[in-house]
Amino acid sequence: MTGAGGDRVREQAERILADVPAWLWDGERLPVPVEDIVDSCFGLHVRDVEDMSAAPGAPAVDGGQQLSGLLLPARGEIWVNADEARRWPPRRRFTIGHELGHWVLHRTGQESLFCRRTTVQEARAVVADIEEEASQFAAELLMPRWLLVREHAACNGDIDALCARFASSRAAMERRVGQLLVGEPPR
Ligand SMILES: [Zn+2]
Repeated sequence: MTGAGGDRVREQAERILADVPAWLWDGERLPVPVEDIVDSCFGLHVRDVEDMSAAPGAPAVDGGQQLSGLLLPARGEIWVNADEARRWPPRRRFTIGHELGHWVLHRTGQESLFCRRTTVQEARAVVADIEEEASQFAAELLMPRWLLVREHAACNGDIDALCARFASSRAAMERRVGQLLVGEPPR
């Protein structure tokens, strides 16, 4: 995401990180404690849920279209897909960041947001604007640019090392590095 929309998303994520109290995060320690931030700064409770379709108002989903995460503003809860979280811990972090992005950027009243696996995209922008914005927010929050630039230099651009430091998936890290450091063409 580029342009005014992308700048707005980045500024919101950076402001949130700047406002995290020092006792919670010193602005440098990796990985960014995303669950502590949503809990302590936003009062949102993260739940790992086996059956996402149990959420009030959950849409019927086809076999391959599992829900990765959802935001229940009325309950102050983020639900993450427990099976995905067990198999891909970095994915859990990204989903939490994505749902916080919806909370910050897109929340209208008490309406719940349901995010299918195919819309919580770590790698490519192929989905609707608010889904892409939420994923961009997650990337800005979990891989802040000042820390990524520094760590990228420190480990000579080794993607696996960066994934370990930021507790990121390879897909999310490759996209982020492409955006910030390799001059990925705008889209
Ligand atoms: Zn979403």
